[in-house]
Amino acid sequence: IEMKEMEVQEVLGSGQYGTVRRVYHRPTCVPMALKEIRLELNQRALQQIIMELDVLHQARSPYIVDFYGAFFVESCVYYCMEFMEYGSLDRLYPAGIPEDILGKITLSTVKGLRFLKDELNVMHRDVKPTNILVNKRGEVKLCDFGVSGQLNQSLAKTHVGCQSYMAPERIYDASNGPVGYTIQSDVWSLGLTIIEVATGRYPYDISSFTNVFEQLNAIVHGEPPKLPESRYSSQACDFVARCLTKQAAVRPVYQELLQHPWMLEAETKEVDMEDWAARSYRLYLARGGNKQVAPLVK
Ligand code: ATP
Ligand code: MG
Repeated sequence: IEMKEMEVQEVLGSGQYGTVRRVYHRPTCVPMALKEIRLELNQRALQQIIMELDVLHQARSPYIVDFYGAFFVESCVYYCMEFMEYGSLDRLYPAGIPEDILGKITLSTVKGLRFLKDELNVMHRDVKPTNILVNKRGEVKLCDFGVSGQLNQSLAKTHVGCQSYMAPERIYDASNGPVGYTIQSDVWSLGLTIIEVATGRYPYDISSFTNVFEQLNAIVHGEPPKLPESRYSSQACDFVARCLTKQAAVRPVYQELLQHPWMLEAETKEVDMEDWAARSYRLYLARGGNKQVAPLVK
């Protein structure tokens, strides 16, 4: 796959590391999302990233955004993936998300995370609403997972954002200092993501912090956030509380999460995801669409 095969269309969004554009791949007539990641790396490191991303060609799951290929031009890595028409959950949640929809979103996310672990032997590392995408069939899929060690390392050098989804043990482990990731850290991020999607805002009160250290301190030493008990069933609240167990070793693994009563219920329930997605996306467009989010970064 090469840049010259692409007809570049509109910007879908920008993040800390680059920009995602809609493109049309002429040889195959497939619309794609092209993510440009600017990295100050030598050719060898860039080549290594492209090689490491190659395992994604074998990774097919209904819960993971399809990978079409990657290449680099100058100091940018270009990552081609399935175009998800309705974009990420952060654009769809301001409409308010009923519990049955939230259950289906959670179920797809857990299945996606389990697939990454079982089939690719990787953890996601960046579970958050902007990395959970929805298409016009109402399907929910994960993107931006950490398959390439070289890419993870290169991105990690950049700063921590002001909304951290990092588990307490990724920030600081009382006995060992910062210990970094385990697969259980993704489960914490999942818990925060579910609350954010349900309530329409990041679960910690950022306005009460004067700097990023205070926020990280709240994650490590404060009580974990909760799903509002007045609006969600006790099963949903219990599921989230388990994800947000501060001690990583006691946090449930994916198999346990999938057997949780809330997930068993989500599995069998008939929910019109397509209709919800279409309605939420229309409201997003009515609020001004991606024009309002684009200027936030850069
Ligand atoms: P961060 O840089 O903090 O991780 P982010 O996830 O929003 O934030 P990007 O991954 O660069 O940053 O994505 C920017 C936006 O582009 C996303 O928020 C999402 O709305 C949109 N987007 C990303 N991938 C796709 C895709 N495959 N199809 C449609 N829209 C996408
Ligand atoms: Mg992203």
